[in-house]
Amino acid sequence: MVIDPCELSPSYVRSIAPYQPGKPISELARELGLKEESIIKLASNENPRGYGPRTRAALEGALGDIARYPDGNGHDLKVALARRYGVDAASIVLGNGSNDVLELVALAFLGPGRAAVYAQHSFAVYALATQARGARSIAVPAKEYGHDLGAMAAAIDDETYVVWIANPNNPTGTMLGSNALEAFVKRVPERVLVVIDEAYNEYLAPELKAETVKWLRRHPNLIVSRTFSKAYGLAGLRVGYAFAHPSVADIMNRVRQPFNVNSLALVAATAALDDMEFVARSYAENLQGMRQIEEGAKKLGLNWIPSHGNFITLRVGKANEVFRRLLKRGVIVRPVGNYQLPEHLRVTIGTAQENERFLSALAASLKD
Ligand SMILES: *Cc1c(COP(=O)(O)O)cnc(C)c1O
Repeated sequence: MVIDPCELSPSYVRSIAPYQPGKPISELARELGLKEESIIKLASNENPRGYGPRTRAALEGALGDIARYPDGNGHDLKVALARRYGVDAASIVLGNGSNDVLELVALAFLGPGRAAVYAQHSFAVYALATQARGARSIAVPAKEYGHDLGAMAAAIDDETYVVWIANPNNPTGTMLGSNALEAFVKRVPERVLVVIDEAYNEYLAPELKAETVKWLRRHPNLIVSRTFSKAYGLAGLRVGYAFAHPSVADIMNRVRQPFNVNSLALVAATAALDDMEFVARSYAENLQGMRQIEEGAKKLGLNWIPSHGNFITLRVGKANEVFRRLLKRGVIVRPVGNYQLPEHLRVTIGTAQENERFLSALAASLKD
């Protein structure tokens, strides 16, 4: 072949920059010849406590069934979610992680000649999902690291069909107030779908949680996405969901793979909704860990972006260099230069012990 087969792909696909995931523990262990047990990973906002006991029991009970295809409609999980959140099962879309749900929005509503609006420093998947459909990205400059809703509303043009909003946002941890957010949803043209990505919802104090699920009745153009990857501790199983108007949910369900959520993920997620003590403990310990890291950062003379998630983004100066020094000490965090934050590192809140170890490795890495 004279041409590079890659060139056969549309130019908007070829220009996609790959998503940069957190470095896996096994990879660093191989590179440095370290034991996996000696490494801590605070790079992907996973739950350091694992997952709950009911989830474990349900998974063990389901192992015998994996020769069968999963329930392609995810009936049991949808019923459990519908009951918990007071929505109709027809308003629910399940995904292979909430990342899949976001892709389904793009697949169903974006394409060449259309555009999506999102904020600078917001979750990388919005740009990726938009670009992969040949749609145009409208990235709106951030305000104090967070979403500038006024500027985002003003950026919506005739070709805009989707607005992506992460609340709280990753990697900055910034959060929009409920009133401002609903005013935004009211203000955008009805043609424009507003996706509110609430991946960190379970880590919010109850009084900070916006009642987005209730807004769905008033706003058919609203989509709320959530995940079992973060507080529920099921990142490796891949399961997330969205609430939307039944017609929107129907379109999204038409473009998904028939079995996009695997059987263990379905069983685990259904059980995880009942692991309420586990989620409550995760929430409480995360708050303590956040204070621990903030105090440690303060002692080191560092600034940070106040966060509402299970991570904190610290300003360390030459972030890539500090990241590499931390790796040598067996601590994996996340540089966020690809988010236009070249001086920051995003650090997942770990267990008290992991936080301590991170802080001492950080102190040493800043001195080297
Ligand atoms: C982690 C994360 C997700 C996606 O997680 P899944 O594992 O795909 O459910 C979505 N949005 C934000 C903002 C995240 O940080």
